Amino acid sequence: MDLDLLESCVAELGEPAYRARQAWEWTARGAPGYEAMTNLPRGLREALAEAVPFSTLTPEHEQRARDGTLKTLFRTADGHPVEAVLMRYRDGRRSVCVSSQSGCPLTCTFCATGRMAFGRNLTAWEIVDQVLHFRRTEPVNHLVFMGMGEPFMNVDAVLAAARRLPALGVTHRRTTISTVGWLPGLGRFVDEVSEPIRLALSLHAADPALRSELMPVNERYPLEEVIALCRTHAERSRRRVFVEYVMLGGVNDSPAQARLLATLLGREAFKVNLIPYNPTGLFDGSPRAAMAAFKAELDRARVPATVRLTRGRDIAAACGQLATAPRSRVRTQAV
Ligand code: SAH
Repeated sequence: MDLDLLESCVAELGEPAYRARQAWEWTARGAPGYEAMTNLPRGLREALAEAVPFSTLTPEHEQRARDGTLKTLFRTADGHPVEAVLMRYRDGRRSVCVSSQSGCPLTCTFCATGRMAFGRNLTAWEIVDQVLHFRRTEPVNHLVFMGMGEPFMNVDAVLAAARRLPALGVTHRRTTISTVGWLPGLGRFVDEVSEPIRLALSLHAADPALRSELMPVNERYPLEEVIALCRTHAERSRRRVFVEYVMLGGVNDSPAQARLLATLLGREAFKVNLIPYNPTGLFDGSPRAAMAAFKAELDRARVPATVRLTRGRDIAAACGQLATAPRSRVRTQAV
């Protein structure tokens, strides 16, 4: 729901501003539509239903994985595809993974999103509406900006959306923004955001040359500066920055590379999440033994590290698999 549009419509209709607030409160708590907002006069409900679309996104397709993970494909009003994922855990955690852009202009070699056409930045409302879609069927309590796109290329909308999340049941402490290390947005996050929102850095290689091969953005924003800024953030916020490290067989998974990673990160400021590679075509995942040996090196260096569970892989809902163009079309475009 576009709250700017809602507020201006309420004003134009000559209604008091608190009516917009009431409508938003209903929406944030998962109301199915304007008709459910029983403390709003019927005439106003009808006028709003005409003037302010209840959602900025239209769900187009939904898939359910064997582990209960749901993936929804939406369209924006101007036709751009957006995907979001709801992960359900046994302990009651309900985590939504949202997109910040339709597609992604970066071209990380292991990520399917980077191979589809880039559409545009999403608005704050288009981000919040991904969450509301799931909120209407069940309570949600965690959120990660780990869907399509680079959140810090769209930092204003991402922060505006993040600031709306507590009303939906997701506190800042349970909100994580993940970045490739896009310095302008990262700098603003570190300097301007006082809310305890978690930061995650997609690192994938401690060696700059290898990182540039895997993630061309590394040429633009040097790793040293990115790491320094993340360290500043960890010190200021007194919370570790999560490091995401996707395990690519024979590429970035040797014990020597683990030791380099440990030296780069140190013991204090970071926590490493080792992510099993989800197939997107180009690489092989690391064998279990290689992942265990890699983690053992980090343990030895006393760098906190865990191996992350993969969810939703059978419906291409796992990390790096969000891409809406059929594979064959992606290939043709790449040629
Ligand atoms: N652009 C941001 C937000 C996307 S987060 C970022 O990169 O941080 C998505 C995470 O999944 C990133 O850590 C990304 O590197 C990782 N990823 C991409 N492709 C993957 C794949 N095929 N398997 C596992 N993880 C992948």
